[in-house]
Amino acid sequence: MNADLKLPRGTRLVIATHNGGKLAEFKELFAPFGLELVSAGELGLDEPEETGTTFAQNARLKAHTAAGETGCLALADDSGLCVDALDGKPGIHTARWAESEDGSGRDFSLGMQRVEDALREVGAQTADERRASFNATLCLASPLGRERLFEGIAPGTLVWPPRGDLGFGFDPVFMPDGFSITFGQMPSEKKHSWAAGKPGLSHRARAFALLVEACCDI
Ligand code: IMP
Repeated sequence: MNADLKLPRGTRLVIATHNGGKLAEFKELFAPFGLELVSAGELGLDEPEETGTTFAQNARLKAHTAAGETGCLALADDSGLCVDALDGKPGIHTARWAESEDGSGRDFSLGMQRVEDALREVGAQTADERRASFNATLCLASPLGRERLFEGIAPGTLVWPPRGDLGFGFDPVFMPDGFSITFGQMPSEKKHSWAAGKPGLSHRARAFALLVEACCDI
C-alpha cells in the first residue's frame, strides 16, 4: 500500500465529479472520517471527456485529471446501470441515455423511459427478465500518478413505473435484491447501509467500504 494513498483525518480530497447526487452521497459516506472534501465542480475544473470503454478506465481518467490539476489526492466514481436483457447496456453510457434531444441537459425521467422502452422491445416482462445491476468503480489517485481502484456492484431488478423521489438518476426504477422498495424510496442512510465493518448496500457504498478498509483511519 502506498503511503501517499492513505486518507488520515484532515486530508484534503478532491471528489472528481460534477454530479450533485454523487457528491452528496460521498459527503455523507465520508462524514465520520474528518476529511476536507472539495468537488471538481466547486473548484471549477473542466469535466474530462470519458473516452474509456470500462468503468475503471473512466474512473482513472477522471481521478488522475483532477489530481494532476489540483496537486491533491482525488477520488473519482464511474458508475452506471447494466441491464442483463440489454447485454449490459446502458453501462458506461448511463448518463448519456438521459441526455435530452435538444441538448438542454440530462432528464432522468427520459433516461428511465428509454431503458423501459428498450426492455419492452426485447419483451422483458418478468422480474427475472428484468435483472440489472448498478456498478461503481472508484479510483483514488495521487498527483504523483499512483492509484487504487475499488469496485462495488448492487444486483436487483427494474420496476415500472418509477417509484419514489429520493436519491438521484435511475434510483426510482431500481429495486435492490432483498427489498420490495426502490433506491428512490430509500432515505440515503438505507441506500448506503454502510457502517464501519459492514459491506454496504448500494454499489457506491460497497466500493466505498473497500476504500475505507484500505485507506482510512477507522
Ligand atoms: P458517470 O459515472 O458520470 O458516467 O454517470 C453515471 C450515471 O449513472 C449517473 O449520471 C446516473 O444517471 C447513473 N447512476 C450512477 N449511480 C447511480 C445511483 O446511485 N443512483 C442512480 N443513478 C446512478
